Order: sequence, then C-alpha cells, then structure tokens
Amino acid sequence: MPEFQTTPGTRDILPPDAARWRAFIENFATVVERAGFEQIILPMFEDLGVFLRLGDATDVVTKEMYDFVDKGGRHVALRPEQTAGACRAYVQHHPVPPWKVWYAGPNFRYEKAQHGRYRQFDQVGVEVLGVDDPLLDVEVIALAHEFFRLLGLRDVTLHINSLGDAGDRDRYVSALSEYFNSHSSELSEESRATLARNPLRVLDSKRPNEQDLIREAPSITHFLSDDAAAHFAMVQQGLALLGVDFVVNDRLVRGLDYYRRTTFEFSSGALDSAQTAVGGGGRYDGLVEDLGGAPTPGIGFAIGLDRTLLACDAEAVFSAPSSAADVFVVDTTDGRAALTVSARLREAGQRVERAYGAKSMKSQMKAADRSGAVFAVIVGSDEAAAGTCTVRNLSTSEQLTVPRDGLVAHLAGQLGSRTPRRSNS
Ligand code: AMP
Repeated sequence: MPEFQTTPGTRDILPPDAARWRAFIENFATVVERAGFEQIILPMFEDLGVFLRLGDATDVVTKEMYDFVDKGGRHVALRPEQTAGACRAYVQHHPVPPWKVWYAGPNFRYEKAQHGRYRQFDQVGVEVLGVDDPLLDVEVIALAHEFFRLLGLRDVTLHINSLGDAGDRDRYVSALSEYFNSHSSELSEESRATLARNPLRVLDSKRPNEQDLIREAPSITHFLSDDAAAHFAMVQQGLALLGVDFVVNDRLVRGLDYYRRTTFEFSSGALDSAQTAVGGGGRYDGLVEDLGGAPTPGIGFAIGLDRTLLACDAEAVFSAPSSAADVFVVDTTDGRAALTVSARLREAGQRVERAYGAKSMKSQMKAADRSGAVFAVIVGSDEAAAGTCTVRNLSTSEQLTVPRDGLVAHLAGQLGSRTPRRSNS
C-alpha cells in the first residue's frame, strides 16, 4: 500500500468523472441562469462566528465543524454549507434586493464517512434574499425539480412541510419536547441526547423501534399561525399549478435551525440506505438579521452533487460526457509535423490527440483507434515530401490525400465547428 492515501471522507474525482461533475454544474447554471440567478463564489473558510449563527442545536455546528485558529489568531472554520456565507456577503455588500445567486463548490463536515456521506462533499444551490412571496418558494422548488428532470432522474420525490414562524416553531418544539420527555423510556440513548439538544431532530430517527412513537408525535400542522398556514397553502397551489408533484410530510424538519415556514427535501428512490436525500432547502427568514443585517426574508436550496450523481448511476442517466478526440495525428517522420498540425487544428477548435515518442505506424494507428477519434491525419515520409497528409475516416477506413495547408478547412467541413461539449444525458 502506498504511504499516502486520501484521508477518510475525501475522494479523488478521476477522469472521466471530473468531466461529469463539470457538466453537472454547467447544467445547473443553465437552469438557474434562465431564471435570473447569478453566480457567487464564496470563501471556503470564514470567521467561525458566521457559522455559529446557524444555531447551536445544529449538528453541523456543534459536532461537525472543521474549525481552527489560524496563524493570525483568528478562529475560522471551513464552510459546512454556503447559505450562511451568502447571507454574510449580503450584509457586507448590501446589494439591491431581490438578490438571486447560485453557487457550486465543496463544503466540509466532520461526519461519519460512508457511501454517499463524505467529509468533503460538493453542493450546487441557490439563495434569494429580500422576497417574502410564497410564489417565490414555488419557483425555487420548481427550479430544483427542473434540474433533476434535466439530469434524467425520474425516481425523485419532493417532500414539503412548513415549520411556521419563529413563534409557531417554538410552541411546536415545546409540545414535542413534552411529548418525547413523557415517553423517554421508549427512546434510545442517542435519541434522548438528541431530545436534550434539539427535539425536532428526534423526528429524523430511523430506528425501527421508535417509529410508532414518532408517528404518534404532535404534528406541526396544528401549530401554524394563520399567516404561515396561508403561505403554505399558496405554495402547494403554486406547485400544483406547475404540475410539480409533491408529498406533504409533516415530519420533515431538516438539519439546520434557521428554517422557517417552507421546508422541502428531494429524496431518491433509486438510492438505498439511509442516504436518500439528494437536496433540500427552505425559507430562513431571520438568518440575515442574526448576521447583523436588516430583517430580510430568504429562501434557498442545496443539492448534493456527490449523492445526486450516485442517484444518476442508480438510474443509469447522465453519463460522463464523451472525451473522444475528433482527430488523431499520426506522424512517422520526426514528430514535427504532428506538433504543428495538432497545434493548428486545436487553434481551429478541434479536439486533437497524438502519440509521443517515435512510435511505429502500427502502434500509432492502434492509439488512434483507442482515442475514439473520427479521423486520423497521417503524415509519413511520402506526405512529408509532398506537403500533404492522408485523412483517414477511422470508422469507414476511407482515405483522402489533402494538401497540408488545406487540412484545417477540410476537417472543419467534415466535423463542423465545435462548441464545448455538454453531457449526453
Ligand atoms: P444540507 O446542507 O444538510 O441540507 O444538505 C443538502 C444536500 O447535500 C443533501 O440532501 C445531500 O444530498 C448533500 N449532503 C449533505 N451532507 C453531505 C455529506 N456529508 N456527504 C455527501 N452529501 C451530503
């Protein structure tokens, strides 16, 4: 075994998967930019205090933070998610609301590493700050839905819930706490610890012997204020209007403390195990204020890139984009023709591969076949002497002699002009 390997919870994303990641993000950008979102790039670490505002009942904050004191004595943390950073940026730069931004990039959580759960994982997501309209909630949820559809995923279910306003949520948490405390002997030790920290999260327990108790627990539905209930009703009507299927799930509480009103999660039926959530989000009215800004409503979602790609694997959709070359240049003279011909074709936008080191014609032609190229451009001693090259169609074996200075135009006519490749989902 080599001395160094990736540390637990981190992975190398090798070719061709890395190209698939990029295509994933490009597709996401396409969907959200159509809806007026602009990209934001946030720092990967921030003052620890920014993330502490996510709430001290949040596992991400209490148990999973990668925080450290830097050489300047600042207590900083690697970002566990990007909503807090986006809100900090909003307060710092005071853009004109509504502020609609999207992001992509890695986050860091000290989790128990397992299949589909990593310590460094990527998310794509959006945030909208400054709008309190339930139809915005609908639009945001529908964007995530549209993105999953674009990837080709079919087995994804949308769960929605409302956590009400701060007062509703507090009253519900008290009722829940009372209920679970009166049945604490039926709870596992872990759930009892969760109950002390954050009663809402007890609802997340997957332990089979606690499911009856959870089923009988009070429902948030009965604690919603009239305003919050009307907001939630409008969200449901809007989704129905767009034909976006959903399930109302009053047990959906989500991890972070700051959620208010609408919360939602997408789960994949193609993923087994407990890690079926491919994305989620909600309204977080209150977070901007906690970070020192004026009271500002906010809503957003994050989609787990790693896990969504596992769902794509399970549904056999959104494969890696083709990395095949357009042209493979074979040079059996001294290699200089391959150097210049490749350079000119690449400048003209073709994807060009070649062999290196004076290899035989046979070995270079084998490499040409392996490359998946459509054409081989062959320069042997005859062609070198005549200032030509032979263009061979690698699937039909048809060959044509073309003057060297007409090669770029000839291949452009054959291959068409190239645009950056997208995934072939
Ligand atoms: P959250 O920020 O916890 O709401 O997570 C949003 C999405 O990010 C989840 O639905 C997952 O798809 C993904 N995610 C969260 N934590 C991890 C992790 N440790 N490893 C891989 N994906 C994750």
